[in-house]
Amino acid sequence: KNSSSARRRVAIIGGGLVGSLSTIYFAKRGWEVLLFELRKDPRLEDKTSLSQRSINLALSARGISALKNAGSNLDEVVLSQVAPMKGRMIHRRKGGLLSQLYGVFGECIYSVDRATLLGLLLDDAEKSENVKIYFEHQLKQCDFDARVLDVENKNDGTISKYEADLIVGADGAYSTVRSQLMRVVRMNYQQEFIPHAYCELTIPPKKNAKGEFEFAMDPNHLHIWPRHTFMMIALPNLDKSFTCTLFMPYEKFDAIKTEDDLITFYQLYFTDAIPLIGEQNLKRDYFLNPKGSLISIKCDPYNYKDRAVIIGDAAHSMVPFYGQGMNCGFQDVEILDKIFEQHNINSQKPEININTFNTNSAKEQENDDMKFRKDLERALDEYTRYRHIDVTTICDLAMYNYIEMRSSVISPIYITRKKIEEWLHWLFPSRIIPLYPMVSFTDMRYSDAQRRWKRQNFLINVIAGSTVLATFAALVLGLRCGRCNIQNVNYKD
Ligand code: FAD
Repeated sequence: KNSSSARRRVAIIGGGLVGSLSTIYFAKRGWEVLLFELRKDPRLEDKTSLSQRSINLALSARGISALKNAGSNLDEVVLSQVAPMKGRMIHRRKGGLLSQLYGVFGECIYSVDRATLLGLLLDDAEKSENVKIYFEHQLKQCDFDARVLDVENKNDGTISKYEADLIVGADGAYSTVRSQLMRVVRMNYQQEFIPHAYCELTIPPKKNAKGEFEFAMDPNHLHIWPRHTFMMIALPNLDKSFTCTLFMPYEKFDAIKTEDDLITFYQLYFTDAIPLIGEQNLKRDYFLNPKGSLISIKCDPYNYKDRAVIIGDAAHSMVPFYGQGMNCGFQDVEILDKIFEQHNINSQKPEININTFNTNSAKEQENDDMKFRKDLERALDEYTRYRHIDVTTICDLAMYNYIEMRSSVISPIYITRKKIEEWLHWLFPSRIIPLYPMVSFTDMRYSDAQRRWKRQNFLINVIAGSTVLATFAALVLGLRCGRCNIQNVNYKD
């Protein structure tokens, strides 16, 4: 299926969060966009079905920046439908809560419903007349050199060929575009399944004395039940429920075989969560809801010449413990767009006037086409070069944060260091910034954030070490003086 338009054509594979945002950006740049999505239009799904239960994501600065630069006040539209979370609320095993703020200046991350966000992106993408969305269409294979894609219509099983100047793979962790790229590119590829799985549960709203529904816990926190080798978290939803995610090793999931096993397990580790979730809901959701695996994927490069590029989870899947998978994917879209801007990637094909068609104008068109291809290849090469270090860094930080969330957050050493770090940040806001705010509240490159964090750690270790020494010295001195006092008292007596 050829294009008759004078616009360059991009085929975006995958109408998930990243593919949909990318569609908006390419349309804004004037490209003709064909978006192919394997699944049905999510906006038509039955909202009451179990598969449509509320699943939320933490949206933070990088994601918001990409939404803002997409135009049409997309950031404001999305931010009108979120629940702000200003910190973590730790639920201790033996009872008791501990609030740990994310930022000392009141910064928040935002809980957003995945389906609502996707619906808003697709609505916005569809507003452009340059965009055509094909739901229930699956990419089967690509001939990158011929710039042709084979796409199957899932309704009737027919396979059609589509031409495109550029193919963008936003088709998630198990990307077909990526596996097709591996046939033509010397791609380094690394994947790791962690031994943990996840299962989603729900804390419904509770009724207050007036019979009105309200949140069952503080709605301005991301709740965590850290249990060292596993944990549960809960994020608020606008309907006053919370979506909980239980992260545990597979063998722990497998060991819970009966409803009694489940309740005994919850009584042991998550006692306060049982009345919040409700025993019946817990039993139903735990056994009915799927147990998802968690994968981390790194690869390099992300592009093949000027023909194709992969973004979002297709290029870098990460474990969800930094809440950055989508945010990083959104940032991919924004950075790719900036690089296109710097390289003057023009979406318009030169027009040939058929009446005055001659060999000179044909030559001009050919030259223009060659220049476009060269510029595009340079832009995509630069994208790979620029982005790789950052994307691999956040994949590593996401792994690291699992240990922090499930274990470190309750260690006294961690809490002391965090206090010192926050105090220094408050005193020197632009000089010392803890890692979490650098990742979640700035758009600083992930690799720069990690480098700064390592440097700062040295300083904080020195201060923490001195504090421990000073406390120890004060204790010893205190003890000695205490003895003196007692002697003095004895003497006086
Ligand atoms: P996907 O969302 O996977 O979308 C890919 C799309 O491509 C799908 O719609 C699929 O149907 C389609 N597709 C696949 N193959 C084809 C094909 N051959 N042809 C056509 N279409 C195809 N991130 C955050 O930023 N914050 C969070 O708090 C957060 N929490 C998370 C919690 C959990 C439990 C998990 C698992 C992930 C979490 N993430 C979070 C990560 C986030 O969900 C992903 O990074 C994000 O969804 C990636 O978007 P994507 O569009 O790249 O891929």
